[in-house]
Amino acid sequence: MSAPMDLRDMVRAIPDYPKAGIIFRDVTTLFGHPEGLSRTVQAIADHVAGLNVDLVAGIDARGFILGGALAMRMGKGFVPIRKRGKLPADVYREEYALEYGSDEVEIHKDAMPREGATVLLVDDLIATGGTAVAAARLIHRAGGTVPIAAFAIDLPELGGAQRLAEIGVSTFAVMAFEGH
Ligand code: AMP
Repeated sequence: MSAPMDLRDMVRAIPDYPKAGIIFRDVTTLFGHPEGLSRTVQAIADHVAGLNVDLVAGIDARGFILGGALAMRMGKGFVPIRKRGKLPADVYREEYALEYGSDEVEIHKDAMPREGATVLLVDDLIATGGTAVAAARLIHRAGGTVPIAAFAIDLPELGGAQRLAEIGVSTFAVMAFEGH
């Protein structure tokens, strides 16, 4: 039997997108591979197996793909953290700076099943950590706790895990790439 393909090789690198100097790590090729999404989800599920997670929260939009699949694999509910203006009921909102630009994310105020619910936060990629920190703050404001955030990809040189650690959230990433 041949060795399984390295998950890193399923991620397409697009230089200078969306602007010069950024190497865009495209997960559509990872998620499009017959084993890519499944093995990524399983690696995260294995890593958090010892935690009593109540639900999975995914960040708009690629975090929905990973988070939805993970919630199903773990038998948990899924909560969306969306870009501004998309959620229909009352929301909390956080503004944050991106690696390129700035944005706002929202969560339904009643998204937690109970005060202190344990939430696994999920996104496709962590760069500076601005998005994930804003998402974790939203979960805190809604009454949840976030012991860990999980990503398919970490860009460690950008310091995202450090920023999450500063608000008490540990980071797990299935793979890492050098650079921006
Ligand atoms: P950050 O807030 O800096 O951690 O950026 C994380 C968000 O921006 C994630 O939702 C990623 O999808 C996206 N992102 C940032 N940098 C990249 C990159 N180099 N390649 C692909 N996506 C990126």
